[in-house]
Amino acid sequence: SGARAGLYSPGDRVRVVDADSVPQLFNTSSAFLLELYATWCGHCAAFAPVFRSLARDISEWKPAVDLVAIDCAEEENRKACTSLGVTGYPSLKFFPAYSSNESVGESLRGFPRDVQGLRRLVIDRLESHKEPGPPACPPLEPASAAEVDGFYESNKDQHLALVFEKNDSYVGREVTLDLLQYENIAVRRVLSSEKDLVSRLGVTEFPSCYLYYTDTNYTRLPVLMEARTFYSYALQRLPGVVRAGKPLPSDSDLQRNYTEEPWRSFNRSRVYMSDLESALHYSLRVELSAHTTISGDDLTALKQYITVLTKYFPGRPAIKGALKAVENWLQEQEGTEIQYSDFRKALDSTVLSGDAVLPAGVRWVGCQGSQPQYRGYPCAVWTLFHVLTVQAKASGSTDGLEVLRAMRAYVSSFFGCRPCATHFESMAQESLSDVTSPATAVLWLWSRHNQVNNRLAGEPSEDPHFPKIQWPTPELCPSCHSLKNGGEHSWSKDQVLDFLYNYFSAERILPDYLQ
Ligand code: FAD
Repeated sequence: SGARAGLYSPGDRVRVVDADSVPQLFNTSSAFLLELYATWCGHCAAFAPVFRSLARDISEWKPAVDLVAIDCAEEENRKACTSLGVTGYPSLKFFPAYSSNESVGESLRGFPRDVQGLRRLVIDRLESHKEPGPPACPPLEPASAAEVDGFYESNKDQHLALVFEKNDSYVGREVTLDLLQYENIAVRRVLSSEKDLVSRLGVTEFPSCYLYYTDTNYTRLPVLMEARTFYSYALQRLPGVVRAGKPLPSDSDLQRNYTEEPWRSFNRSRVYMSDLESALHYSLRVELSAHTTISGDDLTALKQYITVLTKYFPGRPAIKGALKAVENWLQEQEGTEIQYSDFRKALDSTVLSGDAVLPAGVRWVGCQGSQPQYRGYPCAVWTLFHVLTVQAKASGSTDGLEVLRAMRAYVSSFFGCRPCATHFESMAQESLSDVTSPATAVLWLWSRHNQVNNRLAGEPSEDPHFPKIQWPTPELCPSCHSLKNGGEHSWSKDQVLDFLYNYFSAERILPDYLQ
């Protein structure tokens, strides 16, 4: 029973339409790729993960080209599907920007069944788009020396990035599109046959990327690997480059005291105990307190949560003691429901030899936001559960699902952000069954967190000082990144796993922000 029947769920970047919303697709400023599918069709189910991955892969291109799907197995969508002239599934159609509502689009017969092939097909359509093209789509054709020379006269961008590449490479156009939502930068591809520019900059490697300012002022963009993902990531982070509509983050924001607590500098590549303890305080004393009586699935969820905390929270002895006492108290409760007030008493009465066990109040360190509405608790919830999955693995647990089951139940029953809970539940339904061991649990949570980061990049909830990125970055973990044969980015899962074990290990957690 997903939030929406069919092959796609609300957390996906594929926009699912129905007969009523189809008309809204037409006469708009973005092109779109429409998948017509039927839930019952096996090939559609097999293709859905590819389409979903494509949607994530080109999510930055949305203002120029959107990915849309319609379930033609739904009775009420039948007419819309028929009038688009489709009888077999899955079908893909490309619609240029400003298509009229009589348009049936271009049928993409025999379309590729892989992300790279589909992405190239989209680029080809955008490049050959008739006027008027999507206004958000930057020029995709190769730049000439004359255009480069005149660039800063006719543009107010601060940076011009040139991707030098062979004619059959798509990297330049991919990076151009990846940057389309960013200001103060333009990206152009330059072909290896463009002798003037190639010799002027002394380019010998294709692809390679240069920042070009004048004919004597240019530098090669330093990247871990010469490939799309690395160029895009590096360019999006250049000084002065900012996502359209977002303020340029400046250090003075952090000193200006937008937050109640003064800003403290901290190490962005470490986990802080203060965030974990604050998450415990907030979840046990604030979030749970919204439930006067806890029973049924909620009570089960609470017990599972406390159990995994008791087993795996790498805290100070006093805190572990408090958790154990709460767990014992929960086990002693014989009825089918408990009162939150009683739970709270049990939690707060566990004062061992005068120690106030679970500190009250929150003090975010690694999870500080530049303004009060950013980061804080949800950041610490992710961090807490990453730590717990890693601790379960480290302590030799054999039940891969133990921590994730507890997280799923906690989020579903109690997490205050309800849309988050819906999205998380749909990811769990989709793929939690892939988890077979504590190691795959660690990787599952990491990859779903990245999926969420992808969806939230550029959203209003994003702290300008902490952009949503695919994590860990090349700087944080170079060996986590690799390239497939076709030049596509891929994660080296074994390296990622080692990195996560270390990053979230108990020994590495910093007790205080001063370090
Ligand atoms: P966070 O995403 O909170 O990450 C915290 C820290 O974890 C980062 O600073 C980084 O050090 C590390 N990290 C980042 N990525 C990874 C990774 N892949 N693996 C391991 N560690 C990583 N917000 C919404 O607006 N809509 C939602 O649907 C939504 N769903 C959520 C579901 C859950 C279960 C949770 C816990 C939160 C959800 N949120 C959602 C909140 C959102 O994901 C962020 O937590 C929030 O915006 C704060 O972002 P942040 O910049 O602090 O980084």
